Amino acid sequence: MDRKVDLTRNNTWIASLKLPILEQVSLAGRTTWKIGGPARWLLQPRSITELQQLLAHWPDGLPRLILGGGSNLLVDDNGFTGVVLELRRYLNRLELLSGHPDDEIVQIRADAGVDTRSLAHFARQNGLSGAEFLGGIPGTVGGALRMNAGAYGSDIQALLSSCEVLDTQGQRHTLTVAEMGMGYRSCGIAQDWLFVSALFSLRRDDPQRIRERMRSLNRQRREAQPLRYPSAGSTFKNPPMGAKAWQWIERVGMRGAREGQAQVSEQHCNFLLNLGGAQASEMRRLIEHIRSRVWQSGSVELALEVKIVGSEGLLSD
Ligand SMILES: Cc1cc2nc3c(=O)[nH]c(=O)nc-3n(C[C@H](O)[C@H](O)[C@H](O)COP(=O)(O)OP(=O)(O)OC[C@H]3O[C@@H](n4cnc5c(N)ncnc54)[C@H](O)[C@@H]3O)c2cc1C
Repeated sequence: MDRKVDLTRNNTWIASLKLPILEQVSLAGRTTWKIGGPARWLLQPRSITELQQLLAHWPDGLPRLILGGGSNLLVDDNGFTGVVLELRRYLNRLELLSGHPDDEIVQIRADAGVDTRSLAHFARQNGLSGAEFLGGIPGTVGGALRMNAGAYGSDIQALLSSCEVLDTQGQRHTLTVAEMGMGYRSCGIAQDWLFVSALFSLRRDDPQRIRERMRSLNRQRREAQPLRYPSAGSTFKNPPMGAKAWQWIERVGMRGAREGQAQVSEQHCNFLLNLGGAQASEMRRLIEHIRSRVWQSGSVELALEVKIVGSEGLLSD
């Protein structure tokens, strides 16, 4: 790893783009867990072309992290030593694609930085059904594609037609949903490729009925989930067979367990809460403690749903 790379010095690459370079930016402030140290640098690309230029001239050895809404990330207490690419500031356009008024299926194009809840409301306002479950999932379209975010029997794969990605050289590719290898909270596209936009196919329906479905799902969510404290939603994936992750955590007696200011929620054991000022190290200890207890108890390996960000990039995939 070349530790001499400095984004602000001798970089005609970045100077030519005239892109503001933010330095020492708090990542705790940009994640829903409210945990983690600063990013050495943060860039907010203003267009896909600008992103392509950035990737095409990326210095060797300079780590980068793609940040969506930060709702599935646990960032190291020492922060991240590379460049965070934050898409939501500028790449956040939603567009209804015109079709025939009698078409039952209508398409929406969304930039990767669009808030997933805005996508759900945009679909509702346009009388389009299929995205209701996204109304309660924080984050961005890019993060939802990477995670194949889902709830209440659906996931983003179910409404996706195709998406546009940039490879590590900044080359643009259009992929069909079949080419994306999506599974339960996973996507087969290389971790360092970057989603820039997606095309969704939704079905016409009565906006009032869509609104009612969204309200009902949000009510269920509020009743089941501890939304008062910062979290990243479900911490672990459900094992492929048998009991769900929360049931395992309960079974091994860890409901309410604490490590410093990190706590297993009493209400929903798969939510780990930041009670205020929790450190990433405390959260990771709690995670490891749960995993080892579940392993000892049932030889079940709880896989992480959340992504852990170390000082030089993602530690988990
Ligand atoms: C209260 C709460 C409830 C939740 N409920 C649910 C739920 O019901 N269902 C569910 O599935 N999840 C849920 N989550 C988890 C989280 O909201 C989802 O995983 C979400 O889709 C993550 O999106 P994000 O934009 O915040 O991604 P981030 O957390 O910013 O990033 C997650 C991963 O995606 C990558 N990524 C982000 N943008 C891009 C991009 N443009 N191109 C390539 N990679 C990218 C990141 O590098 C990282 O690896 C919940 C979280 C919270 C806090």
